[in-house]
Amino acid sequence: MRVTFTPIHRRDKGTTGTIVVLQDVTEQEKLEQSRRQFVANVSHELRTPLTTIKSYAEALNDGALAERELSERFVGVISNETERMIRLVTDLLHLSRLDSNQAPMRRRQTNIHDMLDEVADRFSFQLRQKSIRAFIQVDSELKEAWLDRDQIDQVLDNLFSNAIKYTLDGGKIQLSARKQEQALIAISVKDTGIGIPKRDLQKIFDRFYRVDKARSRNMGGTGLGLSIAREIVKAHGGTISLNSELNVGTTVTFTLPMLEEDGERS
Ligand code: ADP
Repeated sequence: MRVTFTPIHRRDKGTTGTIVVLQDVTEQEKLEQSRRQFVANVSHELRTPLTTIKSYAEALNDGALAERELSERFVGVISNETERMIRLVTDLLHLSRLDSNQAPMRRRQTNIHDMLDEVADRFSFQLRQKSIRAFIQVDSELKEAWLDRDQIDQVLDNLFSNAIKYTLDGGKIQLSARKQEQALIAISVKDTGIGIPKRDLQKIFDRFYRVDKARSRNMGGTGLGLSIAREIVKAHGGTISLNSELNVGTTVTFTLPMLEEDGERS
């Protein structure tokens, strides 16, 4: 709460009163604080790989370059960390475009079954590597939806890659789509993975929030996947939610309007 006092002067009578203005700045302060937190997080996330790159480059310079095996390992680390930074910056740019409504929406009629099939295809290598089985289930009455295919592919890729990352070898992932009331379609990605503790669920869509930072980093995560998914779904007029039980699995469900909106077809 910001309070300002302004005395009221009258030429003939001197000070006759005071105007007191009470201004609620809670929202403003909250926004400012989350902006500061975001900048601190970005700086930290970039600083970590940069520090690693710097120390490995120095070690090479200080003699490791003479040992072939060692130098190959060090160059590998430098290359991995660089890739992680590129992923992070790409995700940040993507988020900033979504935040400022600069991501153009190119909706088209899309076959749901094909779209889900192709997600599983894109990850077939990782699925095989971890012996994870993927299943697809689409309501028979559900054929097409009106959506930006590139953007929804991004949502599905983020959710599906999380499902693979946080599911142990031999697990199961189910991709499903069903019709909901009010011309909505609900798409879910359900895994039999490690799950998320109850206390973390509330913050799970926050930027850079991770249950286990080290684990996420080791898996190549940026901590922005779910935030990006949420922004894209919101821009489509849908909602996204996550249910999870520790050591049982996680289900992320998002909804999308099924019909094209008036005047959107060019
Ligand atoms: P990250 O790049 O770290 O995966 P995300 O924003 O995609 O970032 O996810 C945030 C965090 O939520 C992850 O670090 C992980 O702790 C948790 N998480 C997301 N999806 C799953 C899942 N399917 N199973 C278990 N934990 C998950």
